[in-house]
Amino acid sequence: MARIKKGDTVTVLSGKDRGKSGKVLQVWPDRDRALVEHLNLVKHFERRSQQNPQGGVIEREGAIALSKLAPMCPNCRKPSRVGWSVSGDGQKQRLCRRCQGVLS
Ligand SMILES: [Zn+2]
Repeated sequence: MARIKKGDTVTVLSGKDRGKSGKVLQVWPDRDRALVEHLNLVKHFERRSQQNPQGGVIEREGAIALSKLAPMCPNCRKPSRVGWSVSGDGQKQRLCRRCQGVLS
């Protein structure tokens, strides 16, 4: 199971978007990268097309390394380091190491 999941709210720990947070749109665990809403915007130069007759520059989210992201803990409302625990039914759960609360 991944440290960061789609739908999490995460905070960026380093890089130009440090301190910002957003919702995870997509995760590629095999590439250790994630796409986060409105973060790490990169400019794409689009060719003219039917959808975009002007062509030109658009900004889109770029993939961010998972190691630069920390999930926001809903209990202590801070970026948390993720620990693990196994619940009664054998499911692995993510824990906030700061407050020991369970991250969904
Ligand atoms: Zn916490």
